Amino acid sequence: MRLGSYFFDERVVVDEIKKQGYKSVLLQLPDGIKRYASLVVDKVETETDARVTVSLDPCYGACDVPLWAAKTLGVDLVVQLGHLPIPNLRFPLPVLFVNVSSDGREEEAVKKAVKSLDGKRVGLVTTAQHIHKLPVMTRELRENGFEPMVGKGDGRIAEDGQVLGCNVITANSVSDMVDCFLFVGTGRFHPLAVAFATDKPVVAVNPFTLEVLKDEFQVEKNRLVRRRYGFITLAEDAEVFGVIVSVKPGQMRLRKALEVEEKLRKHGKRVYRLVADSVEPSVLKGFSDVQCLVSTACPRIAFDDASRFDVPLLTPFEVEVLVGEKSIEDYRFDIIP
Ligand code: SF4
Repeated sequence: MRLGSYFFDERVVVDEIKKQGYKSVLLQLPDGIKRYASLVVDKVETETDARVTVSLDPCYGACDVPLWAAKTLGVDLVVQLGHLPIPNLRFPLPVLFVNVSSDGREEEAVKKAVKSLDGKRVGLVTTAQHIHKLPVMTRELRENGFEPMVGKGDGRIAEDGQVLGCNVITANSVSDMVDCFLFVGTGRFHPLAVAFATDKPVVAVNPFTLEVLKDEFQVEKNRLVRRRYGFITLAEDAEVFGVIVSVKPGQMRLRKALEVEEKLRKHGKRVYRLVADSVEPSVLKGFSDVQCLVSTACPRIAFDDASRFDVPLLTPFEVEVLVGEKSIEDYRFDIIP
């Protein structure tokens, strides 16, 4: 079934529902393809005996499964479209992840990017939506005289070569063996995460627009470190901190929150532990004593939404800089293993 610029195999969903005899399904889609929800619902309800409920809440990744809604509704199955599973996550009810595959011009994109690559050995990384095109992308690199390397993941990563905004282990695992990285996909966060994690040159190419970015990342890295250092400096004056734990199953890091709290207390700060589903600027409404927040949830929040918060919002790594355990020169994105 076509969902805009993406395809997904609806047979996987229909067959699983029929096979298990499910009668009640909660369907979750990322915002980018939510407008096609009715197509999916009609297909499933026509071909199976199941009734489908669509989740209207945002869905950012496989980390974000609406367990509370599923339990309250008493559904038999959650179907999440658009993401590969996070293998080390376990759920108390069946959850079926069905990836969507882009019909972008990945091969052409690689051809366009080769002029910008440094050296011969290239680490190739991409996101779930383009992972099915890895064989053609590696072939294209070989045909242009490069030696592509696709790294292995860990328990958070479903496929070789896949990167998440919170985990670029597939880049780290080949970093010592490559001269540069090529990221094929959309957006800047993933290639920036690779650049911070590996300190290697990163070229990013968008398989829909064929735009190639390279030097922009060095400029953006420097700008981002300066901006984040500004927040850390502001946080030095804060006396009261709120450390946020998310209840989203793949973002829940209580142990990390405890570590952060201990570091802050040792540094003379007062700390409250806070819990939220989504970490949004409104979380602090009515809790105005907190002068600085630390989010242990999705690392992207501190970068994408920082300016919308009334107080500085730090990552766990930035707390280590604040308390003097790390240097801003060694800046890293927060990683979830
Ligand atoms: S924690 Fe954030 S970056 Fe990681 S999978 Fe979830 S939404 Fe994506």
